[in-house]
Amino acid sequence: MSSENKYDAVIIGAGVIGSAVAYELAQRGWKTCNIDKLPAAGYGSTSNSCAIVRFSYSTYQGVAMSYEGMHYWTDWENYLGGPEIDESGLIEFRQTGTALIKAPDGHHQKVTPLLEELNIPHEHWDLNRLSERLPILDHGVLGPPSRPEDESFWADPTDDIEGALFTPESGYVSDPQLSSHNLQRAAEAFGAEFRFGQTVVAINNEDNRTTGVRLEDGTEIQSPVVVNVAGPHSYLINDLAGLTGTMNITTKALRHEVHHVPSPEGFDFEADGLHISDGDAAVYFRPAVGNNILIGSEDPECDVKEWVDPDDFDQEIHDDQWEAQVLRCARRVEGLGLPHEKKGVVDLYDVSDDWIPIYDRTDLDGFYVAIGTSGNQYKNAGVAGHCMAELITAVEAGHDHDADPIKVNGRYTGLEMDLGFYSRNREINPNSSFSVNG
Ligand SMILES: Cc1cc2nc3c(=O)[nH]c(=O)nc-3n(C[C@H](O)[C@H](O)[C@H](O)COP(=O)(O)OP(=O)(O)OC[C@H]3O[C@@H](n4cnc5c(N)ncnc54)[C@H](O)[C@@H]3O)c2cc1C
Repeated sequence: MSSENKYDAVIIGAGVIGSAVAYELAQRGWKTCNIDKLPAAGYGSTSNSCAIVRFSYSTYQGVAMSYEGMHYWTDWENYLGGPEIDESGLIEFRQTGTALIKAPDGHHQKVTPLLEELNIPHEHWDLNRLSERLPILDHGVLGPPSRPEDESFWADPTDDIEGALFTPESGYVSDPQLSSHNLQRAAEAFGAEFRFGQTVVAINNEDNRTTGVRLEDGTEIQSPVVVNVAGPHSYLINDLAGLTGTMNITTKALRHEVHHVPSPEGFDFEADGLHISDGDAAVYFRPAVGNNILIGSEDPECDVKEWVDPDDFDQEIHDDQWEAQVLRCARRVEGLGLPHEKKGVVDLYDVSDDWIPIYDRTDLDGFYVAIGTSGNQYKNAGVAGHCMAELITAVEAGHDHDADPIKVNGRYTGLEMDLGFYSRNREINPNSSFSVNG
């Protein structure tokens, strides 16, 4: 075996989280190698991420981690080691703010006390303030969510929403693929290696300890640590490691559509829009280049969930989902049309049983997982990389993380993140929204 195929840690996947794990480990002196079957960093599900950075989670830990995570984006240039780190340039973090719509039984009721407890800046907007800031929003209560083929979808609202919970620091990242490349370059500056166009087909182990991976071309790579950051393929990689059935929380791939529509005539949503999280209409939307609005689904129960094989799913936009999402948004945004030409992307969430990720070790010594990111962990890439590096370092030094879960203090906010919360063997968290809101 040549020394070039020997590493301290192999990371399967070079999406935004896999690349962040590499950067954090490399900074700690580990010789790492990311292996990705695609041609470059961030070409998997990261590439089609809406890259929204917000703090509106259902749990204390979810809000704390996302608030810490936001600071990586505001400090990006400095975090990576300077503006010259990537010849392709650095991403921009556009802090538009988020308006979380307050509707009856809305998600804001869970989020407000958590923002208060964590001292995260927020404002309660009444309908006048909401109109001042975003005059194109209709104020009717539209929920409970239904589908356009149901009569109830078209019923006139009989009440108004209460207003919005506004968090000024949230926003979105301009280019999720580039953010992964930025992390790759920053990791490489510390000696990390990346191999693209290579598929991991086996996880090697001896005496219940991983010893590395085998690639499709037969190359054997030796490493005492292997990290599964394979996104929607995570369950297949766990299966290769012989771990199917060993974890209380499982993951699977969910097909998700995001649609792009032009802003209403006369309103510049790209310049003046916000990120809106609207559980009442069952959509989230944010500004996008070319004065467009990008619309995603908040996964209402009335929509059939499409669990798919990550290597075989329909990448075309479906007429019925296009209509459902765009019409839901059009009921909230006055003057938004239903364009004839369908534009958008189709990609996969790697969804865990409770839509909360798994950041953990596994029953196979040396084999770690950063998976189950459930459509909501792009924003946490930096902090997730940091937490995984702390966890791996501690466990490899002999710490019993299962018995005594590691707690990590955020490097920016000092907030404590209890990694036991993300355990593979937790009970399904009943406080979760069981949606992209985590
Ligand atoms: C449509 C959409 C919208 C989203 N919007 C948001 C949002 O607004 N905000 C937010 O916070 N999050 C969002 N997310 C979630 C977020 O984008 C993901 O959580 C994040 O990008 C996952 O990054 P990753 O590095 O874990 O996985 P990925 O980017 O999926 O990377 C995994 C990599 O593993 C590689 N791989 C898999 N199997 C193998 C193998 N056998 N051998 C070699 N390589 C392999 C793949 O090629 C891939 O590149 C969204 C996700 C989607 C799909």
